[in-house]
Amino acid sequence: MAKIYSRTDLAIISIVVIMITISSCRDAEEQKSNVDAIHQKLIFAKGEKITNNNFTGNAYLQMLINADSLNQTSVGNVTFEPGARTKWHLHPAGQILLVTDGVGYYQEKGKLKKILRKGDSVKCPPNTEHWHGASPDTFFVQLAITGREKGETVWLNAVSDEEYLK
Ligand code: MN
Repeated sequence: MAKIYSRTDLAIISIVVIMITISSCRDAEEQKSNVDAIHQKLIFAKGEKITNNNFTGNAYLQMLINADSLNQTSVGNVTFEPGARTKWHLHPAGQILLVTDGVGYYQEKGKLKKILRKGDSVKCPPNTEHWHGASPDTFFVQLAITGREKGETVWLNAVSDEEYLK
């Protein structure tokens, strides 16, 4: 049996739908425009702007765990502004990426770019050339879990705009 809604019911339902739409649009705008606003909602700190030459665009790093002789795995929280990305690089013992917010990319050499969203995870194999970073118009926040037992990250060429947008 189909239920007939009164005009009042329909008006209330419409208002609720409009309010939900407005609030989710606002969240989306905030997410795109303000890195600090993102981190107010996240667990791990944004850290400091990365000043080395291994990234294109603006990215931030908060080291959470440094590798040592007892546990040779490091954990860092990396935040990429829209368009920012790593250079091509490889990790001798591989890497795991856990996405905590935003929309980004991961690509291994010779393979298609993967789109990553909040809640996604990636296992990057040892000694595999790859890059990761934000999509062109949205921030990207990832935890990078990196084995250091076989040596440090090897940094290669920058990811060109053509490669990035392909
Ligand atoms: Mn990597």
